[in-house]
Amino acid sequence: MLLRLRPSTRGPDLEAFQRLAREKGYESRFLDRERTLVELMRTSGHGQPGDRAAFEDLSSVAAVLDSSDAPELHERGGQRQATIVRVGEASFGGPFLSLIAGPCAVEDEERLLAIARAVRDAGATLLRGGAFKPRTSPYSFQGLRERGLEFLRRARAEVGLPIVTEVLDPRDVERVAEVADVLQTGSRSMSNTALLSEVARSGKPVLLKRGLAATVREFLLAAEHVLAAGNERVILCERGVRGFDHVTRNLLDLGAVAHLKRATHLPVIVDPSHAAGRPELVLPLAKAGIAAGADGLIVEVHPMPCEARSDGAQAISPADFAELARYVAQLARLEGRRLCQPAGPRPAEVRS
Ligand code: PEP
Ligand code: MN
Repeated sequence: MLLRLRPSTRGPDLEAFQRLAREKGYESRFLDRERTLVELMRTSGHGQPGDRAAFEDLSSVAAVLDSSDAPELHERGGQRQATIVRVGEASFGGPFLSLIAGPCAVEDEERLLAIARAVRDAGATLLRGGAFKPRTSPYSFQGLRERGLEFLRRARAEVGLPIVTEVLDPRDVERVAEVADVLQTGSRSMSNTALLSEVARSGKPVLLKRGLAATVREFLLAAEHVLAAGNERVILCERGVRGFDHVTRNLLDLGAVAHLKRATHLPVIVDPSHAAGRPELVLPLAKAGIAAGADGLIVEVHPMPCEARSDGAQAISPADFAELARYVAQLARLEGRRLCQPAGPRPAEVRS
């Protein structure tokens, strides 16, 4: 490990640093005359995932410059294979891409079933839909809650797609996990560490969305909370960050997608809907996400966007989703990868 100390580190500050180094199993030596650059070498065994943070928390440490001998759990490292998260017919990571689609919010049962059938027939392998909605205004529709969960349960049984749905409150994790195959933690919850620990403990895969203004490091450390609590099945989701321009709802950070694919073994998907905020931009952003290396997409689909109770302005129609799915299948092939398909014969295959 390589660290830079603050220039004035002497006396008790230096002793505290050296004590921690010894406790963690490192020998230290200064590399420069100013005694600010320190190399830490293992006296025995391997470094621990928490070593970097322990040194960063010391007031005498200005920066940890290299901690590759004590990798955090999310890090790809030299040899580590990509983690593949599998749910039903869907797989995210390695050679596999998958599509998640559905309405922003669960609104009524018939409509949910119709959307579920349409997106399955188009190639989605997971159905999304919020029963608990994190709305900016307390006066906006907050979701159907228990009733929404019940509709999702029925959609799963009737249509056969596993469910991705958001949980907002650690106290709700257990009952949401009874219905959800994947627990979504939304952008507004990314730094809610109590929620992250609770979803981790559920044992269900976690779809972790990047915070509205979170750095990539903060995003990865949110994933680290889930991994450190013993749940390896984390799917990262880039959904755009706050930009200065309102031409799109958020600024889709494709550089972060390309970076994450190198920095972590976890799968990374893109949400073009919340990034674009406009239906006509969903397809181009979806294509760009896949080209940047994403392992899948989560897309908001609604047959009557003008009637949607949340995010209707960015929903695409089932027909447009089918077109998107065809593109993604082709792009995946071009990259030597495979878009996972729902179980059973699809209408197009039956006809041909
Ligand atoms: C959603 O998926 O509907 C949602 C609220 O997303 P985000 O947390 O990314 O805003
Ligand atoms: Mn939404």
